[in-house]
Amino acid sequence: ELANRMAEKGADLVKSLFKMGMPVTVTQTIDQDTAELMVTEFGHNIVRVSDSDIDIQTDTVDDAVESLLPRPPVVTIMGHVDHGKTSLLDALRGTDVVAGEAGGITQHIGAYQVTQKDKSKITFLDTPGHEAFTEMRQRGANVTDIVILVVAADDGLMPQTIEAISHTKAAGVPMIVAINKIDKHDANAQKVRERLLEHDIQVEEMGGETQDVEVSALKKLGLDDLIEKIQLQAELLELRANPDRSAEGTVIEAKLDKGRGPVATVLVSRGTLRVGDIFVCGAESGKVRALIDDKGRQVKEAGPSVPVEVLGLSGVPMAGDPLQVVETEARAREVAAYRASVIQNKRTTTAPASLETMFSALKEKQAIEYPLVVKADTQGSVEAIVASINKISTADIRARVLHSGVGGITESDVTLAAASGAPIIGFNVRPNAKAREIAERSKVAFKYYDVIYDLTDEIRAGMAGELGPEA
Ligand code: GDP
Repeated sequence: ELANRMAEKGADLVKSLFKMGMPVTVTQTIDQDTAELMVTEFGHNIVRVSDSDIDIQTDTVDDAVESLLPRPPVVTIMGHVDHGKTSLLDALRGTDVVAGEAGGITQHIGAYQVTQKDKSKITFLDTPGHEAFTEMRQRGANVTDIVILVVAADDGLMPQTIEAISHTKAAGVPMIVAINKIDKHDANAQKVRERLLEHDIQVEEMGGETQDVEVSALKKLGLDDLIEKIQLQAELLELRANPDRSAEGTVIEAKLDKGRGPVATVLVSRGTLRVGDIFVCGAESGKVRALIDDKGRQVKEAGPSVPVEVLGLSGVPMAGDPLQVVETEARAREVAAYRASVIQNKRTTTAPASLETMFSALKEKQAIEYPLVVKADTQGSVEAIVASINKISTADIRARVLHSGVGGITESDVTLAAASGAPIIGFNVRPNAKAREIAERSKVAFKYYDVIYDLTDEIRAGMAGELGPEA
């Protein structure tokens, strides 16, 4: 590739590298310093190509409208612990009409697809919870089309329910509320609907737009109704993709399997992935050796919204990594090596974002909303802070609290903040160790206050562009 760009013979370049004490092959990737040295050695000028010249960006080229065909919705289930997420995922899996007939055995690959009597399909992500959801989003992977918020009718809205609502709203993904455990004698679905109002969710029964449905995952009640509402929501979203092009997708899960080597579950977003395809996947590359579906069957191809296990990777990619099919193995290796070097550089150079850089980034993007996550020691403080923040706005920017709550700053707060580029305000509270660790990695800034006036003053000053360098 380098020889090509210099219009020199590959063999000559290899010879020079050998002379320098670097025994390489003609397709091997070399580091940037060596490449620069070689370019000078051969008497050429170094031109730094833009990232886009080397890397492949997903979704840059839109498919022609006429090539788009309907694709199944991708659904994630969220809610408080023990409210029945796993039970509901299992119950919904049971609605699949093709599961038994093909003789396949259920495999947990991170996502599964169910086919309904009318042949329509729905894809469910198998890892419930908002942390996985937001971590993926933070990595640029918006795979979920619809969120099902599970609320146990006997327990009502709990802290993780509220977190899930914040995460879903921040992502701008439509939500369907599944009021679960209605078989229980102390179930109170109406109370759930009323409490949702406090979080700006008005369900249909209360005259709003959010669909809600009463279910029992245990007794398998209301599942048809839930499926119908998912289909209705999917129709409204007009989900479409071109199946007839080189495949792109996202890694849902990845692992090193003892017998099979690196294995990644990929959800295809557009195109059709086939056995034999050459691909880049995050900082890894490969050639599809086999595709295995959620019923453990080997398949030859996977189209849009279909989750499959991909075998034939050079290494284990990360959840959220994009997969893209490319023309040649050389190209796949080049892109993968480039990405690996970018990751390496990032590790050594990134510093946490300050409020100041946040504001300048906002100005560049001409963002109109300034997102914040607020945690405080008492409910009274949370309410007072959110109320004062909501009043702050300038001609161009308006402060917006993505999530607020009582208690220390947690992992979930940080992943939400990171995905939305928001700083976290701690009022008389501090992050726990795990949250600090993630914040460092994902460049989330913490600001601590113990006087509300200082807090609002600083946000206002920052928004007016008057914030001095941070101490
Ligand atoms: P998760 O933590 O949200 O994944 O919740 P699970 O699916 O593990 O369910 C927690 C508990 O609630 C389990 O003991 C389930 O059997 C029970 N459960 C789940 N759904 C229902 C339901 O519809 N009715 C009743 N009575 N119990 C349920």
